[in-house]
Amino acid sequence: MNKPASVPEQFDAVVVGAGFSGLYMLYRLRQLGLSVKVFDSAGDVGGTWYWNRYPGARCDVPTTDYTFSFDPELEKEWTWSEKYATQPEILEYLRFVADRHELRSDIEFSTAVTAARWDEPAKQWVITTGGGREVRCRHYIMATGCLSVAKSPDIEGAERFAGPVYFTSRWPHEGVDFTGQRVAVIGTGSSGIQSIPLIARQASQLTVFQRTANFSIPAHNGPAPAETLRQLDEGRDAYRDAARWSRGGVPVEPTDVLAGAASEEVRRERFEAAWQQGELFGILNVFADQGVNPAANDIVAEMIREKIRATVNDPETAEALCPRGHYFGTKRPCLDTGYFETFNLPHVRLVDLRKEPIVSITEDGIETAGESFGFDAIVYATGFDAMTGALVGADVTGRDGLSLKEKWAAGPSTYLGLMTTGFPNFFMLTGPGSPSVLSNMAVSIEQHVDWVAGCLKDLRDKGLETIEPTELAEAGWNQHNQDCAAITLHPTANSWYMGANVPGKPRVFLPYIGGVGAYRQACDDVVTQDYLGFTRTGPGAVRCTDGVIRSMQPDVAMVMEFVNALGLPPMETLSAADARALMAATAENRPPGPEVGEVTDGVIPIPDGTLPYRLYRPAGPPEGPRPLVVYFHGGGWVLGNLDSDDPLCRDLCARSGAVVVSVNYRHAPEVRFPAAALDAFAAVQWADANAIELGGIPGQLAVAGWSAGANVAAVACQLARDAGGPRITGQLLICPAVDSDLTRPSYEENGDGYILTTALMRWFWDHYADPADRGDPRAAPLRGDLAGLPPACIVAADFDPLRDEGVAYARALEAAAVPVRLTRARGHTHTSVTMVDVVISGAPVRAEMAAALGDFFPAAEPQAHVS
Ligand code: NAP
Repeated sequence: MNKPASVPEQFDAVVVGAGFSGLYMLYRLRQLGLSVKVFDSAGDVGGTWYWNRYPGARCDVPTTDYTFSFDPELEKEWTWSEKYATQPEILEYLRFVADRHELRSDIEFSTAVTAARWDEPAKQWVITTGGGREVRCRHYIMATGCLSVAKSPDIEGAERFAGPVYFTSRWPHEGVDFTGQRVAVIGTGSSGIQSIPLIARQASQLTVFQRTANFSIPAHNGPAPAETLRQLDEGRDAYRDAARWSRGGVPVEPTDVLAGAASEEVRRERFEAAWQQGELFGILNVFADQGVNPAANDIVAEMIREKIRATVNDPETAEALCPRGHYFGTKRPCLDTGYFETFNLPHVRLVDLRKEPIVSITEDGIETAGESFGFDAIVYATGFDAMTGALVGADVTGRDGLSLKEKWAAGPSTYLGLMTTGFPNFFMLTGPGSPSVLSNMAVSIEQHVDWVAGCLKDLRDKGLETIEPTELAEAGWNQHNQDCAAITLHPTANSWYMGANVPGKPRVFLPYIGGVGAYRQACDDVVTQDYLGFTRTGPGAVRCTDGVIRSMQPDVAMVMEFVNALGLPPMETLSAADARALMAATAENRPPGPEVGEVTDGVIPIPDGTLPYRLYRPAGPPEGPRPLVVYFHGGGWVLGNLDSDDPLCRDLCARSGAVVVSVNYRHAPEVRFPAAALDAFAAVQWADANAIELGGIPGQLAVAGWSAGANVAAVACQLARDAGGPRITGQLLICPAVDSDLTRPSYEENGDGYILTTALMRWFWDHYADPADRGDPRAAPLRGDLAGLPPACIVAADFDPLRDEGVAYARALEAAAVPVRLTRARGHTHTSVTMVDVVISGAPVRAEMAAALGDFFPAAEPQAHVS
């Protein structure tokens, strides 16, 4: 019964949606003793499984995993009949859950929420439902699903068709009988691929209109997988817990097999096993690098295409069904039962819209560029306005009258995919910026619901009323989200993950791809750090610990995890000889770096003997001389040699198009300060004098170096200036050691745990220079006269103890009127930007370095390219 508008009903929380997430949210809030109202426009529980009733609709994560785990008794009472249960069975399950926990009494069905507005003085949400009724609540929770708003059929003439039109996402409850009909299906995503074989069984003619061929593997449906059942039997809790901390929400051990390193036999074996298993998380895990490395991805993609060609009889149709133009996994892959086989039936035809686009839908059919088709019915399997559609479509207005639609005009912005600044006490379950659609939804839903319930309990326990993310925390999470996506192949695809399926939708990677376990850890860490990045208020109280929960580049974090797990002895506890051996051993299996045109070794004569050098000449045109870069390796004046920085030198050479001459100066403790610095200067003098022989352009000479190598490069610039030559046109200083002061804040922040530690830096200095010499500008160039030095590019990494001295050098050069480009290696450590082909997020930083080198040589020819 609607109450009069003057006495609005009040609840602690209003939840929109009675699918998996809304039902569990209601259960948890009730447990907390909160008053809750759930609204759903559907006639019953089920959410996605209420609406998507098209023939063949099933889940595509094994149902033993796609299931609630919060209630052990429920798990005992319910047995799934198949590996991939059908829509009716999943709907039945959700009804069973609702009945078992008597959830329906707090749910109003057939009731749409039309608007929600934050009332700041009352610290409440005002919710308006279909009939203009208003209810008030403290917390507003959207359990509206990621794929609930159908995309409108953006096809010319769609409204003209006179016959029946069906959307897979809003299928008639009574079903549809296509017997004897000529049917068109538009769309070949998961919904199309599941429904087409079944529609083909009834229709007299079926024509499938395909815009993008999709990767699909056979589901091999049948009984629930014996292995999963065994594991569940042996320890249900352990199995569910493993799922919670896994990458995708199903306990699958991520492989470490790299496609390039595997033999053809191993590749086939792994692929075939995944194909036979028929699980998405299996086929996405054939090779460790298939999601990030185009060559590895091509191997899996081509094996799937081989399967399609082997299944479809007509070669032309087979070729049209072979996905091309996007990497496998970057659009959601599908599971099917007899999809490709369906195209061998005489009454089924594929129309490739890439060759023959739809011109218009007509009164009685579809007209393409080449043909007119008559149909009795059209089925749209054209997808959803995914992840944001239901949220921005719900007319949510936060503080200061700002609507969510306005705030997200350039793409969604969230903290943890749970909340968004300006919208206090507004929660999204599996919102954009959370693993959601990339994971087993059941696991991600439970995690979100548990987090929100914990949050509301904590607010109540502390007497607080509102919670909202800070701008800093939200911006940091958005950045982290995009950083995670940027190291994968995902952003290259026109997928719904990218919002690319809806015309005009901002192109942003929507879900969080860092993994379910890593995400859970981030959410837990936020709580442990007193709700880091949230402002919470209550009567007379404001609590806020501001900050960014994840600011390290995700691949750098993975490398750090790997290195820490090796448990290597700290370098500073070793002798110089043992430290050198350890460094060489850890470099043994790394990728070699890009191909260059030519690599030659030689020696540079110096008064005390010779210095080895290695010259890298870029591949390809132009023939003839190139600018010259003299490079000095890192290693604290103690470690390193021509091999240690070989991949980085190749990368610099290939990217910049310059000849790179890498010089091995003499090392401490055998030869101490100032030998390394003097060697560097001698090498620069020699390179300048021999520019033509080295293939260089006389007068176009720059220096570069990493860490201690950057130290000697910077010193060489000062010595050259003092000596009146040679003329150096630029200095590229990567994470340079330019001062002997180990007390800057970056030492405090990053002095432990990121490979280069304060202790190690002290060890380096002790080996290199007497304390009395450490203030000498030839040891600490920051302390020298900086006027008249060559233009500089300085790379400073966030998680580097040397960060602040690099920045200080940039500022000091600037103050001395030297042109400086300061490149911040965001989320990087001292070593990670140099890890070519290991740390993908370092590539843009190295591209900037190469661009800086290009700027040092204004007359240089166009550059070679490395992706
Ligand atoms: P979808 O993956 O977005 O597929 C839509 C299809 O329609 C695509 O082939 C798309 O082509 C095509 N299309 C869209 N607009 C078109 C147009 N104007 N003209 C021609 N073709 C057009 O949507 P979906 O199949 O409904 O699946 C969406 C997601 O829901 C899935 O990825 C999955 O996550 C989930 N789902 C899961 C299951 C399951 O098994 N559990 C079942 C169904 C859905 P383009 O690719 O060129 O855009």
